[in-house]
Amino acid sequence: MSFRTRFAPSPTGPLHLGHAYSALLGHDMARARGGAFLLRMEDTDLQRSKPEWDAQILDDLTWLGLSWDGPVLRQSEHLGTYDPALDQLAAMGLLYPCSCSRSQIQAALAAPQEGVTHEVYPGTCKHRSMSSRRPGDALRLHLDRALAHFGGLYPDFEETGPLYTGTHRIDPDHALAEIGDVVLSRKGEDIVAYFLASALDDIRQEITDVVRGEDLFGFVPIQVILLSLLGHAIPRYHHHRLIRDEEGKRLAKRDDARSIATYRDAGKTPDDIRIMIGL
Ligand code: GLU
Repeated sequence: MSFRTRFAPSPTGPLHLGHAYSALLGHDMARARGGAFLLRMEDTDLQRSKPEWDAQILDDLTWLGLSWDGPVLRQSEHLGTYDPALDQLAAMGLLYPCSCSRSQIQAALAAPQEGVTHEVYPGTCKHRSMSSRRPGDALRLHLDRALAHFGGLYPDFEETGPLYTGTHRIDPDHALAEIGDVVLSRKGEDIVAYFLASALDDIRQEITDVVRGEDLFGFVPIQVILLSLLGHAIPRYHHHRLIRDEEGKRLAKRDDARSIATYRDAGKTPDDIRIMIGL
């Protein structure tokens, strides 16, 4: 299959220089290879995702000179389509319901970010069976059982980014210690969590090469584990450097001063932006 990549922002704030770098890099890679560049709105967080941000992101990407292939995929329009994967994992005995606090679960639902510590779930609800599930319970992956499923033959993935180039095999001890039992869904509100939704949509959009920031590299194992359990082929990954501010901090959505809209208002051109981010 020819090269297909995607840009997958969460419409919870303005596009900033870091996003622009990710989008332009993926776009340029696709165009240089005669491949496809797709767009996906990761808007499963129904509280924080806003149509205004969605519209602003599309406008900023167009202003930057990007074009994407096919319609924009909005996860919020497909919430039911993640259920078969959850059912499959449940039938394999790999999920358990969890009633731990909303804030704990909320933290686990969002896409992880550098600087935001990922908390490995302590396993409070791990003993629970699916039959004890109550409305509003989250569903977690029972990682120990999921790993046991591979019978010692752990899947691997290929990384083409400059920082971690090469083939990486899933290390079960590392996955247990660093990632743990992630939330895959919270029922009642029909919300599928980032790890599963994003991995499944890479399959749905037939992505061959996932291009994104290095802050997500540490979480590739969980997506590879999920896709392998569900019988899907694993895409290649390309994690790029992050755009940082003068103090070396990664730019985040709250850094409005570095939003593309602010630079546009200040009269910068798309070429100025490319120069600023070193493209
Ligand atoms: N939606 C995620 C974010 O905005 C990116 C997910 C990905 O590229 O896999 O941080």
